[in-house]
Amino acid sequence: MLTSSQRQLLRVISECGPLSRTEMAQLLGFSKAAMSGLARDLIDLGVLHETETVYGPGRPSVRLDLSPECAFFIGVSLLEEPAPMVLSDLTGKIIARRSMPLSRDPAVIADAVAQALPELLANHPDAADRLSGIGIALSGFVDETQARCVQSTLLNWQDVPLARIVSDRCGVETFIENDAKAVAVSEKLFGTARDISNFSVVTLGDGIGCAHFIDGKLYRGNHGGAGEIAHCTIEPGGSPCRCGKRGCLDTIASMKAVGEMARAEGLTCTSLSELEAQASVGNAAAIRILHRAASALGLAIANLIQMNDPGLILITHVEGSFDGLFGTVLKQAVETNVLPRYAGQTPIRFKRVDSDIWARGAASIAAHQFLIGPHSS
Ligand SMILES: [Zn+2]
Repeated sequence: MLTSSQRQLLRVISECGPLSRTEMAQLLGFSKAAMSGLARDLIDLGVLHETETVYGPGRPSVRLDLSPECAFFIGVSLLEEPAPMVLSDLTGKIIARRSMPLSRDPAVIADAVAQALPELLANHPDAADRLSGIGIALSGFVDETQARCVQSTLLNWQDVPLARIVSDRCGVETFIENDAKAVAVSEKLFGTARDISNFSVVTLGDGIGCAHFIDGKLYRGNHGGAGEIAHCTIEPGGSPCRCGKRGCLDTIASMKAVGEMARAEGLTCTSLSELEAQASVGNAAAIRILHRAASALGLAIANLIQMNDPGLILITHVEGSFDGLFGTVLKQAVETNVLPRYAGQTPIRFKRVDSDIWARGAASIAAHQFLIGPHSS
């Protein structure tokens, strides 16, 4: 078990990259003697290792970095059938993959994780010795201790203490998280947002997810539901949404909605890339659909920028590219709908992700807990 000072040091390196003992002492306000002792203990534990020597005005110093293989984590995504599972190291690198049957019964899920664990760890004895946590990503609201699913429509759950059920069955500390929030944590720990304190992640797929980091911390709101832009009303009185309301962003801009609009227009192509191809040769229906969806998403993001003033909006997508009509209209809609003083101030990046996105996000939840300690996200 790491001390809070040790975790503080790991968190700083995780955010800044390799640092010298002097740089870490300055950042954390520790004396040089205290920092030397702390660094020595973490090197002895195999958590830190020495990297390059830096030459400055004073004596040369050696930078320290996290040892990727000092701790390993399991990530499980309960968003697909079969449910993907990954084994990752402390830097988010995926070392092995498996899948397990998906169930809505928490005890069956715990059994499936327990059965798949030995297979996942079979060729990785170091990982088995240093397995430090299991993370599970799901669609729904999760409590702030990342232990209990408060509500999930997809899984038909109310107040399910899934983390305890899985950790009791597997003997490994377990944390759960909402899918989009898990992706945001993964981007903060290992990805594009590593050195950004305020940012929002929008996950664009069949549904739309969203999560925010504010002042370097994941923001979940009072009921765990902060960031649900998918169910912000964009067209009052519009089409019915699966949530029970009408005119939600999800009914216009999700990839599922785009596909349904394309079918309703009589188009045979329904994916974003196919619609982009059709739009580029002047197909009016494809242009109309892409315009409508991108305008709606741009409006929602403009409102998000107006409310939180983030340093980055990161839009992750599994399908398509954003260098065509959809991406152009989206950016225009953002610029048109923010206050003039915000216009052009917030970088919007598109990131094509692979199918590991949710399981990798889940593993990052466990890694995050390892780095910063429980319940201090
Ligand atoms: Zn809705």
